[in-house]
Amino acid sequence: MSEDRIPLAGVMGHPVAHSRSPRLHGYWLRRLGLRGHYVPLDVAPGDLRDVLASLPKAGFVGVNVTIPHKESMLEIADLVTDRATLIGAANTLTFQSDGRIRADNTDGYGFLENLRRNAPAWQPEAGPAVVLGAGGAARAVIVALREAGTPEIVVCNRTRGRAEQLRQEFGPRLRVEDWVTAGHAIAEAATVVNTTSLGMVGQPELRVSLDGLHPGTVVNDLVYTPLETRLLRVAREKGCVAVDGLGMLIHQAVPGFERWFGCRPEVDAATREVLL
Ligand code: NAP
Repeated sequence: MSEDRIPLAGVMGHPVAHSRSPRLHGYWLRRLGLRGHYVPLDVAPGDLRDVLASLPKAGFVGVNVTIPHKESMLEIADLVTDRATLIGAANTLTFQSDGRIRADNTDGYGFLENLRRNAPAWQPEAGPAVVLGAGGAARAVIVALREAGTPEIVVCNRTRGRAEQLRQEFGPRLRVEDWVTAGHAIAEAATVVNTTSLGMVGQPELRVSLDGLHPGTVVNDLVYTPLETRLLRVAREKGCVAVDGLGMLIHQAVPGFERWFGCRPEVDAATREVLL
């Protein structure tokens, strides 16, 4: 890109108006005094290829992708990172100077970084992790936990077949437990992660038994509206280390911002404030 061209980035989804990413990236751009803009891009699935082909010509250096485009990027991109292939979805595209589109997935990075920052004593290899849910977010979390050395990952999902599918894909370090007996698995866990949408505003409450939670367990809810879910409230009451999902949303944005705008943004309390 020529020196006098202002770099552009954005988030591409359908719908996309709800996305907090423009606020986050806009804040970092202002704070770091960088030239650049980050905009919401509402693109229907049928228009995806055409729009992606034209964005670099308009000065775009990359985009985040969200629902419903995350999976289709694996087909459309020219280069797909191993991580995105494993997860089966991409959330960060970079338009390279050679004209190729590189697709990566930074959700797992965001998940790990959120826990490392907010539960500094967390040791992913210290014991089993329970993952509630088996959707897209669960895949990113499972790939990250595997990489981080978690010895056993117990997956509990309402639809058991989806959890079994993950077990087939990701191998023997995964174990599947019934959704209704998730409470037993939670009692044995060093790490508990809710990757379902339960507990989110407008969704039913997460009702698995939390009686067995014990002090020291690291409990993370990917839900961030509300910030304090029932899971996190009970976890705190029981002396666990409770970490909300907003940090993952912020940290997953860091690698893209750095690639596109050439500067690594700091994640601090002020960054969280911008999103609340
Ligand atoms: P998804 O692929 O649609 O998966 C949804 C999961 O929730 C599935 O496991 C589903 O179980 C389960 N579920 C939904 N309704 C349920 C119910 N009534 N009872 C029991 N289980 C239920 O969605 P996703 O992309 O993985 O996202 C899941 C959540 O993570 C969302 O709330 C999303 O906002 C959040 N998230 C947060 C971040 C972050 O940065 N903090 C990043 C990604 C996602 P079945 O298989 O039985 O349907």
